[in-house]
Amino acid sequence: MADTEKVVIIGSGPAGWTAAIYAARANLDPLVFPGKAAGGDLVPGGQLMLTTEVENFPGFPDGVTGPDLMQLFMRQALRYGSRVVTTSGVQSRETLAGDTPLWAAAFQNVQSVDLSSRPFRVVGDEGDEVLAHSLIIATGAKANWLGLENEQRLAKSGGGVSACAVCDGALPIFRNKELAVVGGGDSAVEEATYLTKFASRVYLIHRRDQLRASKIMQERALNNKKIEILWNRGVVDVLGDDTIQGVRLKDTISGEEQDLPLGGLFMAIGHTPITGFLNGQLDLDDAGYIRLADPYRSTTSVEGVFAAGDVADHVYRQAITAAGMGCKAAIDAERWLAEQGID
Ligand code: NAP
Repeated sequence: MADTEKVVIIGSGPAGWTAAIYAARANLDPLVFPGKAAGGDLVPGGQLMLTTEVENFPGFPDGVTGPDLMQLFMRQALRYGSRVVTTSGVQSRETLAGDTPLWAAAFQNVQSVDLSSRPFRVVGDEGDEVLAHSLIIATGAKANWLGLENEQRLAKSGGGVSACAVCDGALPIFRNKELAVVGGGDSAVEEATYLTKFASRVYLIHRRDQLRASKIMQERALNNKKIEILWNRGVVDVLGDDTIQGVRLKDTISGEEQDLPLGGLFMAIGHTPITGFLNGQLDLDDAGYIRLADPYRSTTSVEGVFAAGDVADHVYRQAITAAGMGCKAAIDAERWLAEQGID
């Protein structure tokens, strides 16, 4: 490894790889910690690895699967000289074939970072230590799930269970079906409202008798004739072999169970940003997302540390917005390094 890297990128979703593409083309020789396929929060390739068809990423008029799209991102990043940290050290395009599937590569996670002095210190989970003049944090946020076995099975197989209505709701399998959204916050109401464009009916399944969503969003749901709110209900099982057929609901007060036939199920029970490894060294908001020092840029509370993608954005959470933020972070890092006389 070089004595001190110019830029280290943590995360390999759309934000991380886009930052790598831009940083590599600016001759910054970026080093990426993509994350581990199993046993860590950081999924190599990010949340798109958990989706099937992506129809809203520009440039793919016939759609593309999430994993295929992320594989293309990685190939492009490696092509221009990005390097990745694997369990057997640093590898580049020459040593790691660009078509090594993201889920099969033995990449490293980041264990911890030390931002208290410069250069920054990044420690991988295999114990490798890297010094970095600048850092781009693109670790993302993971959608929360109920954790039911059938929920996970059908989400991974594209069987009609999703954690992102905006990403998946327009897919043909959900057209004119009875769909349900689980949750009672702004996301749940927003997603339920969005789904009414395609669905014949949308159930909002909430575990309490009051929504957490803001007043204006609540009114939107209550006034929408296609939305029916099922109060005090929890989902205890997801039914269906290849595609979802329905859910088993449990009344949280009476304990009574009832099956509800459905053509699609969307989770909107919050996200968890992956910021634990920062150990309080960057300014975070109340929900744990990185607080940008300037909302139009990628700067954070520590000079030389930049953030991009869902880890710093709980509003849009789209592949295209994350990629845009990754681009901004690489350009910000490049300019900051030049100001420090490091090029
Ligand atoms: P949130 O506000 O944390 O709401 C999560 C919802 O999921 C809550 O209603 C919660 O129920 C429910 N929930 C959590 N765990 C559950 C479980 N295991 N089983 C069943 N239900 C569960 O999350 P969010 O809606 O994603 O919003 C996150 C932030 O983004 C908020 O600050 C929100 O205002 C903001 N946001 C804003 C907009 C907008 O302004 N357009 C849109 C989306 C999000 P309880 O209510 O019982 O806790």
